[in-house]
Amino acid sequence: MNAWQAFGIPTIINACGTNTRLSGGHTRPEVARAMAEAGSATVEMPDLQAGASREIARLTGADAGIVTAGASAAILLGAAACLAGLDPARMNRLPQAGPRNTFLVARSQRNMYDRAVTVAGGRLEEIGIPDRFSGPGVRDAELWEFASAIDDRTAGILWLAQPTAQPALPEFAALARARGVPILVDAAAQLPPLTNLRKFIADGADLVAFSGGKAIGGPQASGVLCGRRDLVSSALAQMLDLDIYREYWRVPPEFAPLADLPGLPHHGIGRSCKAGKEEVLGLLTALRLFAEESDGQRQATWRARLARIDAAGRWAGARVLDRPVPTLELPCADPDALARHLLAHTPPIHVNLGERHRGVVLISPIAMTDAEADAVGAWLTRWNG
Ligand SMILES: *Cc1c(COP(=O)(O)O)cnc(C)c1O
Repeated sequence: MNAWQAFGIPTIINACGTNTRLSGGHTRPEVARAMAEAGSATVEMPDLQAGASREIARLTGADAGIVTAGASAAILLGAAACLAGLDPARMNRLPQAGPRNTFLVARSQRNMYDRAVTVAGGRLEEIGIPDRFSGPGVRDAELWEFASAIDDRTAGILWLAQPTAQPALPEFAALARARGVPILVDAAAQLPPLTNLRKFIADGADLVAFSGGKAIGGPQASGVLCGRRDLVSSALAQMLDLDIYREYWRVPPEFAPLADLPGLPHHGIGRSCKAGKEEVLGLLTALRLFAEESDGQRQATWRARLARIDAAGRWAGARVLDRPVPTLELPCADPDALARHLLAHTPPIHVNLGERHRGVVLISPIAMTDAEADAVGAWLTRWNG
């Protein structure tokens, strides 16, 4: 009996993607091994996060980085860092942030994950009119609108990384730097391409959040916050347990700005973002493996897996969409009926219905094994809708 069976938990085939709702993907054996090894020793948490910082800095080009409980946690901690800086009294007061508490965000970029900024004590101030999305016009938030909105209350700018995002990051970052306002980038789901690991930092972001449980293949509840050393150090101070006599507190050089704190903050707003040693070692192992593999290798693996699903080429109009994660598109008259047929398999097969309005079901290879892909293919041949 395996652990799933021991607790009576039904498993599924995840042909949808690394969605949190579906528990992400499969853990690579190297990652599982690192997580098991993490449990075989104890460590001082600042040393653990210092090791994480060195590896994250090497792979992202950032000054520093930490492992968090997910990208949402990284956004919360990043916002907390922008709000409190290196002032432990301000850290202790969050989520009461004082008058400098607004984060500017393009109205078209509002999304369900930006709640993390408000949880930390920030207030979102929407900029621009997203006519290009709503239809009547061609414009979106523009740089001059942000420039005019920055004032004494501005704690930061939130930017959702997306190929279509506007204003583009380099020009945005130039404005932010000139005005002394940090830019916090939500890049949770922007890997692959591998180049994005370095791109947002290179483009001038002050802080970047990545999800560990998506394409990186780390533990489901892991994420990365990387960027400026002072801000990352502030974020770490708000996540760590610093309940220690000051004279025993040893600051690793990776987080040198913490050596100047007048005192140590109490467990704060970031305490609920904590990552354990299992997540940290697991994420670092996954991140290293992710960086060592090329996008071409990943594409080849994923396309080969998708090819197994409709190996006989029987599905009329089936095609592989050329996306960062290649996606199999199955056109059908009734996408919901097809999805229900797939859910009737044992174990249930979950697909992506996000584009059902186009009359398609989408299948992602990222959270499946080859054997699971074969099962999906076999079950599809029993569909006569
Ligand atoms: C998935 C996602 C997140 C949250 O990532 P977690 O690691 O699950 O916390 C945040 N922002 C965006 C845009 C995402 O797609």
